[in-house]
Parts: sequence; structure tokens; C-alpha cells
Amino acid sequence: MLGEYPDGTEICAPIAIATGARPGPTMWLQACVHGPELVGPLAISRFLGELDLQRFSGTVVCLLAANPIAFRSRDRLTIVDGQNLNRSYPGQTDGGVTQRMAHVALTAALEVSDALVDLHSGGDHLVCSYHIIYRNDGGAAGKKSEEMASGLGAPQICNAMSPVFDGAAFACFVASGRPAVLVESGGGATVTQVDIENQVRAIRGACSCLGMLPAASAAPPPQIGREVALIHGERGGIFEPMAPLEAVLEKGDEFGRIRNLYGDTLEICRNPFGRARLIALRRAYMPIHAGEEVAEISHIG
Ligand SMILES: [Zn+2]
Repeated sequence: MLGEYPDGTEICAPIAIATGARPGPTMWLQACVHGPELVGPLAISRFLGELDLQRFSGTVVCLLAANPIAFRSRDRLTIVDGQNLNRSYPGQTDGGVTQRMAHVALTAALEVSDALVDLHSGGDHLVCSYHIIYRNDGGAAGKKSEEMASGLGAPQICNAMSPVFDGAAFACFVASGRPAVLVESGGGATVTQVDIENQVRAIRGACSCLGMLPAASAAPPPQIGREVALIHGERGGIFEPMAPLEAVLEKGDEFGRIRNLYGDTLEICRNPFGRARLIALRRAYMPIHAGEEVAEISHIG
């Protein structure tokens, strides 16, 4: 139980557990930390439907809607307290609604599992390329996380050491000595078959890396980014992308514009860093407030 609704009923989340015929580790697989990110649960149900338990070693515990309040309201944040679950781990027992949900779920995850795969997408407001975020802090779990991220078939993986990600579940898992990856693919208020297939491939690849499934055919080695950075716009207006996802940007390169409702350009959005790959963008013509995130990049320079 993750909490209690005002009507006194329990805040619960759907869970599916699959145990293979052979012994092995336990993987915690979660989705919908952000409510509208539906690629995750669709990928999990497809993965489970195709899973041959005779050839599977260990157990996968699937938390299909990690934030059931946000899932029901189709919001990225928990509408009750406006908090982002992906910034709220490890949570606290006497915190707000989101902090408490984070605490209950992460405590359960750390009690039963050896590794974490956290499925995300851009949801309604952002579009993400297929990429993996992890934290390699130099320790054994960090190195294993990078190895896991490298085998999932994503062209771009990014080591996220920035404190911005301290409250994400993958960072808490690595801090507790267990490998973890965060998978991104899709968004823009839609779900594509390609994004579902990417995330199924990521789940299978993580299982292979942990010895739960036979080794998959080797994926081409990904490009490794040394940090993820979020880029914020300075002006309020309508965001217009001017570069495709996965574009390589040099310092100062334009990737989007913010226009007012009369069509005037208020701001040209440029890459403020060195060489970087564009891994997430606001969806086209999204109204944004001044200071909101407009893109995410992976430093590759
Ligand atoms: Zn997300």
C-alpha cells in the first residue's frame, strides 16, 4: 500500500511477478513513475507475454504504475502535491504524498531485488530518443550499470553524475550497491511500436546482462555521454524545434526557437555546452513558461 486516498481506500499499484524455472537474481522493473509515460507498461506486458519461463533464470518483479495517482490523472507529477516522483527517492516516511510513495516502493524494491530497470519516455510534453541513463560512480554497481546500459541496443548512453538525478531510483540503487538503468524512448503524447520494441529490447538486454536470459546477439557499441544536461528556455512562448533528435550539436548551435503568439522569434535556443547529442526535445509547438526545460543533451565532447 502506497498511501490512502481521501475516501479512505488504499493507494495501490498493479504488480506482476514472473519466476523462471531456474534460480537467478531478482530484477525490479518499473514504469509510469511519470503518469503519461505509457510505453513502459506496454513494453512490460509484451515482454511478459513472450517470456519463456523454462529458459528464464530468476524473478522479475514488475511495478506497472509506480505513481498510480499521476497515472490516473495522466500527469507527469503527483497532482496532489505537485512533486516529481523521479526526484523524490529514497523518500521519507513522514514526508508528503510523493515522498511517502517513493519510500514504500523503494524500500520494497531494495528488500527483494538485485537490480533495477526504470522505464520512461517523454510522456505528453517531451520527445526522447532511445537512450539509457545510469550512474557510474566508479564502484562495482556503477560499472555494472554501465555494462548493462551498453548492451541494450540504444545508440546513446549517458552517465548521469549530476546532483539533479540524486532523487531518481537508479541513483538510489547504485548508492545501495546494486546496478540500475533508466530507459528512455518516445513521448510527444503518442506511443509508437518502435518505442515499445526499443523498451522490450532494453528489458531483454538487462535480463541477459544479469544472466537471467541467454546472451542476446551483440548490439553495436553505443556512444557514451559523460553527463546529461537539461537546457532551459529564457522566454515564455511557443517552442519550435529546429534540429532533429539525435543531432550532434557544437557549442552555440541552434536547436529550437521560442516564438510569441504573433509569430515573432523571442529566443533562439542554442547548445550552451561543448559537443553534445540532442537526446530529448519539447514536442513541437508546445507552449512553455519562461525557465522551463526545452531540451536534454548528452555531452560527448
Ligand atoms: Zn519519465
